[in-house]
Amino acid sequence: MTVWICATCAVEHRDSAAPPNGECAICADERQYVPEDGQRWTTLTELREAGTTIDLAEVEPGLYGLSTTPAVGIGQRALLLQTDDGNLLWDPVGYVDDAAIEKVRELGGIAFVVASHPHMYGVQVEWSHAFGNAPVLVPEADKRWLMRPDPVVRFWEGTVKLLPGTTLIQVGGHFPGSAAVHWTGAADDNGVLLAGDTVMPGRRVGSASFMRSFPNMIPLSQAAVRKIVANLEPYEYDRLYSNFGTVVRPNAKAGVKASAERYLAWIRGDFDDDI
Ligand SMILES: [Zn+2]
Ligand SMILES: [Zn+2]
Repeated sequence: MTVWICATCAVEHRDSAAPPNGECAICADERQYVPEDGQRWTTLTELREAGTTIDLAEVEPGLYGLSTTPAVGIGQRALLLQTDDGNLLWDPVGYVDDAAIEKVRELGGIAFVVASHPHMYGVQVEWSHAFGNAPVLVPEADKRWLMRPDPVVRFWEGTVKLLPGTTLIQVGGHFPGSAAVHWTGAADDNGVLLAGDTVMPGRRVGSASFMRSFPNMIPLSQAAVRKIVANLEPYEYDRLYSNFGTVVRPNAKAGVKASAERYLAWIRGDFDDDI
């Protein structure tokens, strides 16, 4: 049997002899896209034979980034967060090989695999199987987007204390289960937020935005942005890392709140005299 991976979003699908019928449901959804030339499936073997590699680099003490070359699917940068009781793999990439497993093992392996939302599921079950069936956490609210069910999957909602100094938070917005991880174990004692694309850093230093769809540029409502800000309000964070290596820092929480106010003012029409 073969684990089929959608070539566009890199999300693994059930083991089957033949590729899944039709389009990948995650890509057919209005938040993603099926390319003009149609659905394509790939496999770990095909990606390996194409020369795919995984680079691992320190982001800050205790936090490492993993990226594939060439990019697989959406091409996110996964994050490996180290704690004394084991590590969290966040937003797993859609590829895994022996060299990457070895490098991650040297850093203490993986205790939990969690994605910020379905676009980032990658080959999460494959990563789990490579690390002693580490639990893969999937929010109850996004259950329907789990394309490869497996006994390692555990459903969750609300907030979960995962490992020392880490809290998994259901933030919502982009997906009902869109999540972030708050980490209090950084070397400089400042809070850090792993945000996926629940909150997306802007190019302007200290700014961020919020979207239902990034590739199709569909905005979120006022209520959704308020909900995101409210769900993050209990947490202090100096740095916010996205799933693409971008960051809001320092004083990330203040930057996110100011950006949310700007967003709300625009959709309310506060500046419409200028358009
Ligand atoms: Zn897909
Ligand atoms: Zn997304």
